[in-house]
Amino acid sequence: MSNTLNRFVHINQRIEQALSHSGRSADDAITLLAVSKRHSLEKIHALYELGQRHFGESYLQEALTKINTSPYSDIIWHFIGPIQSNKTKDIAQNFQWVHSVDRIKIARRLSAQSPDHSSPLNICLQINISQEVQKSGFSSSEIYTFMEEIINLPNLAVRGLMAIPEPTNNVTLQKKAFHQLKELMTQLNKEFKLNMDTLSMGMSNDLESAIAEGATIIRVGTALFGAREY
Ligand SMILES: *Cc1c(COP(=O)(O)O)cnc(C)c1O
Repeated sequence: MSNTLNRFVHINQRIEQALSHSGRSADDAITLLAVSKRHSLEKIHALYELGQRHFGESYLQEALTKINTSPYSDIIWHFIGPIQSNKTKDIAQNFQWVHSVDRIKIARRLSAQSPDHSSPLNICLQINISQEVQKSGFSSSEIYTFMEEIINLPNLAVRGLMAIPEPTNNVTLQKKAFHQLKELMTQLNKEFKLNMDTLSMGMSNDLESAIAEGATIIRVGTALFGAREY
């Protein structure tokens, strides 16, 4: 498992360097979300033993098997995949975070189906920042229509925004999309008097650009685990 150790050390170095290059403080909180979809529980536990606690999953059945099998109750599970409305109950009851809230119906159902007396479910609103036709997410204008309702849903803590921009190796374009997401959060905070504090943006190939533009959670799969297994 020394591969795991090498990758983990390397990612943490990339985060530190990106922070210092962008003038952000080394103490600035970046949460490394280890995207463990299509990787075994064994690999998750190898990272857990190195101190990793936040894990992200995209496929509900696969995730539930892992959550129910893992003996570690202090893992913080994040759901980051596409959400079918008939799956919201299982998601609300098994995850502490949901990054992929991409339509109003999903927000309503997650709030209604959160377990009683639990702490509110942390959510990010997914924004279709590159305005791709086939991509899910609220458009930047549409989100204004629903924001008031979403922030008043009783069992949700609206923590911020998430985006999966159109993949590109052009650093200028990467940064542009991430910058737009940050601007949108700043505007929404002002308009609705909120304190959203989370920008979930940046993956294996563009995490430096995301950190430069203010990411607080980066979602890293391949660079931590290698190619997905199944
Ligand atoms: C799979 C996935 C990731 C991780 O992507 P890598 O390129 O493997 O780092 C991040 N975010 C979302 C939403 C994903 O589905």
